[in-house]
Amino acid sequence: MRPYVFIILTIISFKSIHYAYCDIKNGYEFEIKLADQCLRNIDSLMEICTDDDQMVKLKMHRKRIEYKRKEYQKKYLITHRILKKFKDIAPEIYYTVDRIRDYEKNVTDIFVKIVDKSEFNQEGILATTNLAQSEKSEHRYHSEYCDGSVSVKVSNLNEWKTLEMLAHEFGHVLYQVPNLASYLDYYYKAYLKYKHSISKGHGRYDPSHQSVINTLADYSDSMRNYLSTNKKGVESAYCEIAIPAHIQ
Ligand SMILES: [Zn+2]
Repeated sequence: MRPYVFIILTIISFKSIHYAYCDIKNGYEFEIKLADQCLRNIDSLMEICTDDDQMVKLKMHRKRIEYKRKEYQKKYLITHRILKKFKDIAPEIYYTVDRIRDYEKNVTDIFVKIVDKSEFNQEGILATTNLAQSEKSEHRYHSEYCDGSVSVKVSNLNEWKTLEMLAHEFGHVLYQVPNLASYLDYYYKAYLKYKHSISKGHGRYDPSHQSVINTLADYSDSMRNYLSTNKKGVESAYCEIAIPAHIQ
């Protein structure tokens, strides 16, 4: 079997494994597991490969995947720390998002990635929450991960700002997941004339915008409480974080 066939099979098998879970997830875990599976498949191919040219290609491919895995691992750790910190500061918001269900009471995974600012194409955008329906149900969320999932991306700025932007995006998630069909109806009507505006989702009467305002207010209260009880401040939790073994 040719290498690319193995890699396609890897992607299919990994996606089927993924559906079993539900909660806030580190978006890079998906890519790290996929890279690990690809490396195992390449190693299997190298064991049976007898063609020198093919072996050179396999080695080059392996190096590329190894490099990518290291990059994903770095980004995983940054995301892991921010999520852990957010949970410490605002556990009520965190667990509400963690347990969120759609209009039909289906569990919905929230995949979070802290990304380089340069990954956003549009000037002025620092964070996004995707907005899309599954083909199977107008109430079911869909993202690049799978049906029943939301993709949240936040720029890696200073820690305070990144945490606040994550609270902002969780505000969108809290409204949009349980109200997806009605919100999309509103969204298309409200913003149809603003094809490239960065303020989509933040019209004066937009319920998702209202949810962001409410969530940021709750987050500010939680942050005040956190700082009053944790004198060491925002940097202190970094040394307390346990990294899952399969990521190391
Ligand atoms: Zn927003």
